[in-house]
Amino acid sequence: MQHAVVVGAGLKGIVAARRLVDRGCRVTLVDRAKRLGGVHSSIPWDGFSLDIGCHLFGNEDDATTALLLDLMGGEARPITPAVASVLAGVRTDGIEYPDLTRLPDDRRGAVLAGVLERAAERGDAPVPGIDPTRSLAAHLVDLFGASAADVLGEVFAKMLQAPPGELSAAAYSALPARRLKVTDDATAALLKQVPAFDAVILRSNADDPMRFLRDRASGFEARALYPTTGGMGGFAATATARLMEVGVELTLEAEIASLALHGQTTRLTLADGRTFDADVLVWTSGWTPLASALGEDAASVSAAIRPVPMALFYFDIPAGAAGTYHWVHDFDNDHRVFRASVPSLFGPDTAPDGRHYVCAEVPTAMDSAMFTDPAAQAEAIWAEVTALGVATGPLPERVKTLTTPASYRFPARDFETAVAPVRTRAAAMPGLLVADEFNFGKSGSVREIDQRLAGWEG
Ligand SMILES: Cc1cc2nc3c(=O)[nH]c(=O)nc-3n(C[C@H](O)[C@H](O)[C@H](O)COP(=O)(O)OP(=O)(O)OC[C@H]3O[C@@H](n4cnc5c(N)ncnc54)[C@H](O)[C@@H]3O)c2cc1C
Repeated sequence: MQHAVVVGAGLKGIVAARRLVDRGCRVTLVDRAKRLGGVHSSIPWDGFSLDIGCHLFGNEDDATTALLLDLMGGEARPITPAVASVLAGVRTDGIEYPDLTRLPDDRRGAVLAGVLERAAERGDAPVPGIDPTRSLAAHLVDLFGASAADVLGEVFAKMLQAPPGELSAAAYSALPARRLKVTDDATAALLKQVPAFDAVILRSNADDPMRFLRDRASGFEARALYPTTGGMGGFAATATARLMEVGVELTLEAEIASLALHGQTTRLTLADGRTFDADVLVWTSGWTPLASALGEDAASVSAAIRPVPMALFYFDIPAGAAGTYHWVHDFDNDHRVFRASVPSLFGPDTAPDGRHYVCAEVPTAMDSAMFTDPAAQAEAIWAEVTALGVATGPLPERVKTLTTPASYRFPARDFETAVAPVRTRAAAMPGLLVADEFNFGKSGSVREIDQRLAGWEG
């Protein structure tokens, strides 16, 4: 039996471990944390179980959903949230991406002209793939033209906390901008008859949220899934139980010392001297720890990653104060909230009877008042949350704030240069599969692992 070692027990590591058991391996899952789950975790707060940020699992294709259900103990709540997004002070129902038709006419005209011009130039050629050696700004220009790239830089400034010229194109995987909403839906439907325009123009699915998914995600008639118990911490708990049931061996609170070739195997050595020899080793805990384990320049790799500090606000509200929307993205940069949701609407057991909780994500800088004293900002954040339509009423008496120095993480423009020696070392180790740290999203994480494992013959 082949021995597989998986490093990092976030979603990617959990998925890798599960898949490798199915491939007949003996699997050891290693993490430095006390628990599995990574960003899938919950904190208790007087009867609430709070997710760390706004989370839902997308129901994007049958294979991914089947795997997620397996990890959730066989059942999940089907959720099609009432969503909206805000741009230029206007709220649009039913979408999670920026509605660029809300821009002032002159900017909107320039964006539309640029998008169509760029697509027409491309003709039958596919949209350009991500070249991580280029900047995110250059990638956006390639896809949508210069005016749209400028606008998108402003629209996503809050989420990215950096200008797109300073980031690598690999950051694109985190942006909700595969196609752009630059016309009304009737015009979009017409333009989409032309394949080159279809590739970049978006028609809203607000009237039928499953329209584009029904064929791919046939078994589950909802856009998203939420764990039946315990929110995101509940997901981590059921996934842990499932992995143990199928025989995965857990090595937690592990400090990694080194990774090296050892004959035909890859040897992982922990700081306490324990060693694990792997026929295949799947690395899912990011490039900086990998650089360190391989004896490469981890400081340079780390310096080329831009973590986004975030303040999280939790409001304890009576059930009747939950608003019209379950989940709203705010793309206006004079507002502080990037997105807000009511997770207890998805998982009722995460709040005491008769209560709900609102979670608001506020990306910021480490030296901002928002980060150093978030409690002082609660009233302003609540005003935004109510304006978004996520909740109603006066500022709740009970508010909890959390800060994290690294919520989202994006590769800087020079990331590929910094990571090149690590990639070279990793490529020379035949049994080492490195998951892309910047492949963002839950379904994206599942697909990322499936893609890595597809390349392994074992
Ligand atoms: C606030 C927030 C909200 C999100 N909401 C959504 C959403 O609603 N929908 C969606 O699709 N996506 C969402 N995402 C993105 C998605 O959840 C992530 O892309 C995905 O979970 C990443 O999984 P991962 O395994 O790569 O990373 P992580 O969850 O970060 O796991 C990495 C693991 O590696 C371990 N590790 C790190 N360093 C070491 C080391 N040196 N040694 C050993 N172990 C180590 C960590 O302890 C951790 O367990 C959200 C992300 C965030 C941050």
